Amino acid sequence: MKIAIGADHGGFTLKEGLKKFLAEQSIPVEDVGCFNKDPVDYPDIAAQVAAKLSQGLVDQGIVICTTGIGMSIMANKFPRVRAALCLNPRMAKMARAHNNANMLALGGELLNLNEAQAILAAWLREDFDASERHQRRVRKIQQHARDTVDPVDLYETDPEIYAVLRNEAARESENLELIASENYVSRSVQEAAGSLLTNKYAEGYPGKRWYDGCQFVDEAERLAIDRAKQLFGAEHVNVQPHCGSSANLAVYLTVLKPGDRMLAMDPTAGGHLTHGLKANVSGQLFDVRHYGVDRDTEQLDYEAIARLAREHKPKLIVVGASAYPRLIDFKRFRKIADGVSAYLMADIAHIAGLVATGHHPNPVPYAEFVTGTTHKTLRGPRGGFILCQARFAQDIDRTIFPGLQGGPLMHIIAAKAVCFQEALQPAFKKYQEQVVSNAQALAEALKAESLRIVSGGTDTHLMLVDLTSLNVTGRDAAHALDQAGITVNKNMIPFDTKSPFITSGIRVGTPAVTTRGMRAAEMKLIAGLLAKGLRNLNQATTLAAIKQQVKALTSKFPLP
Ligand SMILES: *Cc1c(COP(=O)(O)O)cnc(C)c1O
Repeated sequence: MKIAIGADHGGFTLKEGLKKFLAEQSIPVEDVGCFNKDPVDYPDIAAQVAAKLSQGLVDQGIVICTTGIGMSIMANKFPRVRAALCLNPRMAKMARAHNNANMLALGGELLNLNEAQAILAAWLREDFDASERHQRRVRKIQQHARDTVDPVDLYETDPEIYAVLRNEAARESENLELIASENYVSRSVQEAAGSLLTNKYAEGYPGKRWYDGCQFVDEAERLAIDRAKQLFGAEHVNVQPHCGSSANLAVYLTVLKPGDRMLAMDPTAGGHLTHGLKANVSGQLFDVRHYGVDRDTEQLDYEAIARLAREHKPKLIVVGASAYPRLIDFKRFRKIADGVSAYLMADIAHIAGLVATGHHPNPVPYAEFVTGTTHKTLRGPRGGFILCQARFAQDIDRTIFPGLQGGPLMHIIAAKAVCFQEALQPAFKKYQEQVVSNAQALAEALKAESLRIVSGGTDTHLMLVDLTSLNVTGRDAAHALDQAGITVNKNMIPFDTKSPFITSGIRVGTPAVTTRGMRAAEMKLIAGLLAKGLRNLNQATTLAAIKQQVKALTSKFPLP
């Protein structure tokens, strides 16, 4: 065991006495000061001891000022520090046994050396009584420290942005988030994403950067790459794309020249805007031809796609979607691509979490390039990644930097590493399993409410609800549901007769509510609330009543 000790001028004499006492017991002590009776500020000393304890560099701490009060107030602001101000051996014993206190605070003016030694002896003799009730209570202390995490500096310096953060926190906590592309990241991911790594320029790649001082961010990027390789079984990984769109553009720019032809899923049938929308650079630079879904099954028709490939002879075929609820057969796409000697790129932005855990087929064995995002089902920070075969590694890396981007976002890359690590854990597999079974439960419950689900159901985390029979547009539905505390997005359904701004459908997904711990029973409840909202779009009082029910439901499922 190692103890850090610190005192201000009011506690200096007692500290020197207690150091001798600890030395007699052969307990290693790290003294942070002060080293004479010149006045110092007690918070500075308390912070040094508390930081060491909080970071796990020592096992316990002792802080002494005139009364011990200022020191204990300061020390208790540090995560994992439980400082107890003790006036007698009984208090020390109880602080250890019941509170698992790990820092002893003493008052230099209140105690003589004999009394202080008796307190310290009682403290050292006692261990935490790890019975269930004491563990539970100590856990609540720790939990509370987390729940009250509050941007301390922003509160002072930028009250407007502080208010934005507080309001968004309340919205995320109280609303029912059903946008299929959203999720709630863990505190660990948030900590890395909000960290000081944002300060570092690191143009280039680990080991070969344009700037110096990259030894630590190199380590973060290497970890992210290695973990992603393991997660997806990929030969090469680039974790620098700022978003999924730049990952896609990087692959296009690697294998195509302006004017070259590619075949991708029609954005109006479920494809992404980077799959050749005219308003997107992909549709402006390249000659993009589109496939959709079959009119009857509302699913991919591989024979039809093969025919289109033979007809258009694209240089690149893109498979993947933003609003397709069924499993995709990547092996079939490989065959189609081989038939016309095209490259194959799989865009798994939405389904990356399902792919990582085996709940959706993995395209890595079949596609030269796989692009994705870390912030959707994968539940990491907002960002993109590219997986590719080793033979394309250099070209892909060069297209991202210096081709398309400058300095990578090292705080986000560190958060991606955390996300990949979390995704490798058994609990993440269970989570994805629940995401899919929740989506299926929700789809069934919506059908029971007489709502039509595109293609009849879902194999993934999302579904499309056709609102035609309700005579309601997607735009009006999403707007009204937002007033009821339910967030969804309007979405075109296959062969939609309405424009992308109006639409005949909504897209609904389960990743976020599943992260909160909701299961089949809650899916039934949600289906009921959704259906009620959709049937009462113009009834402000009904929408307000739903909002109260939503609040009651979400209050039982706290955010991570
Ligand atoms: C979300 C998504 C992307 C990337 O989105 P960004 O907002 O640029 O990160 C790419 N492809 C598909 C299919 C998507 O759904």
